Amino acid sequence: MKSQPIRQANQLAVLKAACRKHGLPLTIQRTVILEALADREDHPAADQIYEAVRERLPSISRTTVYRVLETLVRIGLAVKTCTPGSSVRFDPRTERHHHLVCAQCDRVIDVLEPTLDRLVLPRARRAGFEIRDYSVHFRGLCGTCRQEKAGPSPTGTRRKQRGPRQLSGEGTS
Ligand SMILES: [Zn+2]
Ligand SMILES: [Zn+2]
Repeated sequence: MKSQPIRQANQLAVLKAACRKHGLPLTIQRTVILEALADREDHPAADQIYEAVRERLPSISRTTVYRVLETLVRIGLAVKTCTPGSSVRFDPRTERHHHLVCAQCDRVIDVLEPTLDRLVLPRARRAGFEIRDYSVHFRGLCGTCRQEKAGPSPTGTRRKQRGPRQLSGEGTS
């Protein structure tokens, strides 16, 4: 039973502890932004968090939201996940996990796959590089985009359980 996003009940306590540890005041902005992020599994971009918190904090600026998100990453309550050609996305799930990334709609879906957590790392140290962490991104098309691409089809639903790696060369008869 690991890897649930921080739940409402204890996220305030977690934030309090992290702020104290880093000598930061517990502000309403930090609290509201963490709550907005912790509830989501869709890996929102900073602008999406900005839109979400404006209801509760109408006067908050975009810059503040960006800055607070950076702070949450720095104190270990969120991570950034970067996908090529897309904006930085924020993730409340801070332990190692992996992602399915849709090339069409930029959807990012968590993958919890123990075998991926035990990859043999390259000997990057030879090049003076110290690997501290990693995350695997699988690029492909999500179920929604695949269905849109296939168009309405009476047999289409049969195949929607397929993984995103099977992208082409099948299915349209
Ligand atoms: Zn998609
Ligand atoms: Zn994630």
